[in-house]
Amino acid sequence: MNLKIDIHIHSINSFDSSIQIEDLQEISRSKGLDGVAITDHDKYFNGKVDGLVVIPGIEVSTREGHLLGLGQVGKIAAGLSVNETIRIIHDRGGVVILAHPYDLIRGGIKPDQIREKLDGIETINSMAYPYNLSKHLAEKAAKKMGVSSLGGSDSHTLETVGDAYTCIRSQSSSIDEIIDAIRKGDVSPEGGSIGNVNQLRRMKAAVKWRLKT
Ligand SMILES: [Zn+2]
Ligand SMILES: [Zn+2]
Repeated sequence: MNLKIDIHIHSINSFDSSIQIEDLQEISRSKGLDGVAITDHDKYFNGKVDGLVVIPGIEVSTREGHLLGLGQVGKIAAGLSVNETIRIIHDRGGVVILAHPYDLIRGGIKPDQIREKLDGIETINSMAYPYNLSKHLAEKAAKKMGVSSLGGSDSHTLETVGDAYTCIRSQSSSIDEIIDAIRKGDVSPEGGSIGNVNQLRRMKAAVKWRLKT
């Protein structure tokens, strides 16, 4: 089966998101998604959402930047090196995807910092800035490293959920089979940028937040 899953969504449990988990079913259905991964900053989510496939996940802040850990990986500490974090996720049977590696505002982990095997790169991240350049460089890196490309909206507000997602060709909708499909590279990225209006709003918020810290 071919599942459409937005693998990168932040809920209210992230300090910078307004998305309530109970609102995810309706918006996901309206965008044609089969499921989501709720990847809060350094907080593991392994809950259920009615009517959706939910891949357990976390967005880990490593020393070098952000990565997504998907599967039954449990809590993972922030601030470890990227290579140590990848080893922990793999030891626990999960998969590792580099998040927005070429985003100019948020930065990201660069392929030459990685010695461990990677499962994929988020080549389409709807929040990436500047979008086209970030996508182009991420696609080039995925090709060079021989890893698969995935897509996620990186939503912090409800309306952008599903703006990007990953098509996963899985045997079934069980989490184990989905994780296996990602590991094997039976995936492709879909969707695009959240668009200029949202992008501008997001940048303003980011600048404000930086000034505060
Ligand atoms: Zn991130
Ligand atoms: Zn994120």
